[in-house]
Amino acid sequence: MDDYKKAADTIREKGYVVAFTGAGISVDSGIPTFRGGQGLWEKYDPMEYAHIGSFSRDPQKVWVMLREMAQVIFDSSPSPAHIALNELEQKGYLKAVITQNVDGLHQIAGNSSVIEYHGNHRRLVCMNCSKKIPFTPEVVGIMPYPNCEKCNSALKPDVVFFGEGIPMLAMVRANEEANKCKVMIIIGTSGVVYPAAEIPYTSKAMGATIIEINPESTPFTSSITDMFFKGSASDILPKILKNI
Ligand code: NAD
Ligand code: ZN
Repeated sequence: MDDYKKAADTIREKGYVVAFTGAGISVDSGIPTFRGGQGLWEKYDPMEYAHIGSFSRDPQKVWVMLREMAQVIFDSSPSPAHIALNELEQKGYLKAVITQNVDGLHQIAGNSSVIEYHGNHRRLVCMNCSKKIPFTPEVVGIMPYPNCEKCNSALKPDVVFFGEGIPMLAMVRANEEANKCKVMIIIGTSGVVYPAAEIPYTSKAMGATIIEINPESTPFTSSITDMFFKGSASDILPKILKNI
């Protein structure tokens, strides 16, 4: 049987699907991954610039990178893979998206239950009083960086930097969905960023079927993946959808 049809049949039969996504699903939206070393990550080492210690020491320096990152995100739009995930929700199969991405593209594509495991770059948070405001294109131009209107401290995109913890509510919701799902589709993640990478192992242990889409194999592929689709998510997801 055709592999796309086999994946589609599994989704239809099992019913409760959760997607676990990473930077790879947004490559065709124009947002480079960290590990590809492309785009702005040629200039800025994420381990240096996306570390909370660097931000606390020198917000002005880190905001040079954040401004560029924001522009890349504001200029992006959902890929065929994001759109296919919205269709999968409309058809009643996809119950939640657990994403490590901070670009907000699943929400823009129309998915209603998106768990932001690493936060969202389209929001700003005050490092001192925790006040949150939308991160709009107008804010990008504020030099040397935007400050909190309540307490004047530096604002930071509401994303999890290296050295920071995962937001509690996102962790609880992700765990719930990972336990409940009957099919998990892992899309465009290298599976090396923890604790996020634990999520698919939980689903597998609870009996879910694991479908994985990635041009490269990952630590999941030989350990827990039941059906591996080698290639771009924008190519493969719409083909699976056609069979549903
Ligand atoms: P990663 O960079 O570690 O891995 C990306 C994965 O995507 C790789 O396995 C790669 O083979 C795969 N890939 C590349 N092109 C693809 C395509 N067209 N279709 C499907 N897969 C493709 O990304 P990660 O595992 O998400 O972990 C990196 C961390 O970096 C995340 O926590 C995330 O917060 C952050 N990040 C987010 C964005 C974003 O929001 N778009 C972008 C860069 C980094
Ligand atoms: Zn404040």
